[in-house]
Amino acid sequence: MSDLHDEVEQILQQIATKSVVSLAQINRRLAELDAQIKAAQPNSSGSVILHSRRHEKPCAGCPHYSWSIWLESTKRGVRHYSRYTIDNPQQRKRRGDIGRKLSPLIHEAEKLMALKKKLTASFAYLNKQPLYLPPEPPV
Ligand SMILES: [Zn+2]
Repeated sequence: MSDLHDEVEQILQQIATKSVVSLAQINRRLAELDAQIKAAQPNSSGSVILHSRRHEKPCAGCPHYSWSIWLESTKRGVRHYSRYTIDNPQQRKRRGDIGRKLSPLIHEAEKLMALKKKLTASFAYLNKQPLYLPPEPPV
């Protein structure tokens, strides 16, 4: 019986380690994609970017990524850029060579963001569970 318990404990440790390593790899790759997506476009109106934000007190899901687009507008004769959150980067990205270069990067980032969402949801669920405490032995 204790062999089974040891075996199960090993399996659980492998799952936990694998999950932590996966999330770390996803975060590293998303940071690379963030830089590649920025580098593939001119620094001007119409650029679709991965926007990252972090909590003041970091959580397991930090940094949190979302899609944004920079758009130029004119207010009282002064041109400025504003960042708008979007949820359809493939449709909003530039066309032509830039778009063709961006397409696989956006595709990969979207896949990783979806995977990260599932993983962090599992961590959040586990984190909310109370610790199991064995009952006190009868006195
Ligand atoms: Zn966070």
